[in-house]
Amino acid sequence: MSTAYVLVEQNNGRLDPVTVELITAARALGEVTAVVVGEPGTGQAFAAELGSLGASVVIAAEATGVANRLVLPEVDALHMLAAHNPGPIVVAANLTGNEIAGRLAARLASGVLCDVVGINADRTAKQSIFGDTIQVSAAVGGAAPIYTLRAGAVTGESVAAAGTLQSMELPAATMKDVTVVSSAPAVRGDRPELPQAKVVIAGGRGIGSAENFQSVVEPLADALGGAVGATRDAVDLGYYPGEYQIGQTGVTVSPDVYIGLGVSGAIQHTSGMQTAKKVIIVNNDEDAPIFEIADLGVVGDLFAIAPELVEEINKRK
Ligand SMILES: Cc1cc2nc3c(=O)[nH]c(=O)nc-3n(C[C@H](O)[C@H](O)[C@H](O)COP(=O)(O)OP(=O)(O)OC[C@H]3O[C@@H](n4cnc5c(N)ncnc54)[C@H](O)[C@@H]3O)c2cc1C
Repeated sequence: MSTAYVLVEQNNGRLDPVTVELITAARALGEVTAVVVGEPGTGQAFAAELGSLGASVVIAAEATGVANRLVLPEVDALHMLAAHNPGPIVVAANLTGNEIAGRLAARLASGVLCDVVGINADRTAKQSIFGDTIQVSAAVGGAAPIYTLRAGAVTGESVAAAGTLQSMELPAATMKDVTVVSSAPAVRGDRPELPQAKVVIAGGRGIGSAENFQSVVEPLADALGGAVGATRDAVDLGYYPGEYQIGQTGVTVSPDVYIGLGVSGAIQHTSGMQTAKKVIIVNNDEDAPIFEIADLGVVGDLFAIAPELVEEINKRK
């Protein structure tokens, strides 16, 4: 049976729950070799658990300082393994996973399928596109086809396997390596985390500036105890930080109440908020597509309406 490689996802010294999903999906392609990239001892620490999840082999690709190097150690490890013994490679469809997949595809001259939601034994995979409205089957070429798997798309099933530990030496860092020299937790203030927030106030291009986010969107969020979100255009224009982007390439929110200010309703945005229980929209264009999914739509100038709302809410507290 051929080998399928899985890049193990770790989170604060534990296996990330997506790892069992990666192993489950990769099992359709062959015997699973789980690749652990980390500081010395990481592979040993995870070997038994990875075996119980379904890894026949656990490769410990380790070196001191690897935890602070970005992306290249993972690319090096998978490249060396697949160049020597080609086989499909499955990684998580997150920011680093997609980056690793792209670099590997270039090095191995393989095809890559991103954000797949299922993988088949014939090496085709399922993707859910256009805001999850269409499912497609796609085939990928090369001796070592690469897949990035969306978290939560596959139900993880543990099927115990040997979990035999092997180690490999990683190349030393070169001039091309990016190394993290320091980090500090982000200061988030008192607002709830965006993905879990019960109330979300989203600002779009119509907000017009970073200052207006502070003077118009944030006060409404604070009056309602909610989180602030943004459209991609608002993020790209520098109005609000990227971690608050809602939509296909951002965060998915499912609040009790979503209030959109100056948001037009592109499918890439609505796919990330359409499960909100109540959608309230303020937009000065009555033809804006977002009104189609609104429970309450107000056609008007957000700069007049939002401050009045804040005043009224605060009066009633
Ligand atoms: C591959 C891909 C992925 C993408 N991923 C995302 C994603 O994850 N999230 C996302 O949001 N977008 C995403 N986009 C971008 C998306 O297609 C839209 O371009 C974007 O959502 C539009 O943002 P917007 O609604 O802020 O801007 P616009 O479409 O420009 O809308 C601004 C709205 O503000 C209204 N407005 C202006 N002034 C006022 C005022 N004074 N009062 C009231 N209303 C006013 C206007 O009438 C207009 O409807 C993606 C695009 C691509 C191609």
